[in-house]
Amino acid sequence: MALIKCPLCGESVSENATKCPHCGEPLTNEVATQETNQQQIQQTTQQANGGYQQPNMLPKPDNHMVTAILITLCCCIVPGIVSIVYAVNSNSAYSSGDYAGAVRAANSAKTWINWGLILGGIYYILVALYFIFIIGLGAASSY
Ligand SMILES: [Zn+2]
Repeated sequence: MALIKCPLCGESVSENATKCPHCGEPLTNEVATQETNQQQIQQTTQQANGGYQQPNMLPKPDNHMVTAILITLCCCIVPGIVSIVYAVNSNSAYSSGDYAGAVRAANSAKTWINWGLILGGIYYILVALYFIFIIGLGAASSY
């Protein structure tokens, strides 16, 4: 429980108190005004960070960029590159204020990542089966 200073008499008062127990000064209005000031400061900071962004802009959607790069490196190059392209599109759409476009591109990136995972999984299973087959042949011929 934090303490605040009463604006009238300067005594320490619980921040949950609705009025000062020392002088009777009501404190709720003071707290409300502080919150409003903080909101105004946040809005001003957002405008300073990017003038093109709308004040009520939603947070940037996850564009799956890292996963897309991993897919490209580890599993399948083609769906990986397609998902990277969609991730980049999602970034640029968000930067230009097109939130719906950013979400759409991020979803497309996700779809291609899933295809990359499926194709990559099939590829690795085939490779594993191939080696099991080779080892099996070797074991069979040695007897
Ligand atoms: Zn007071």
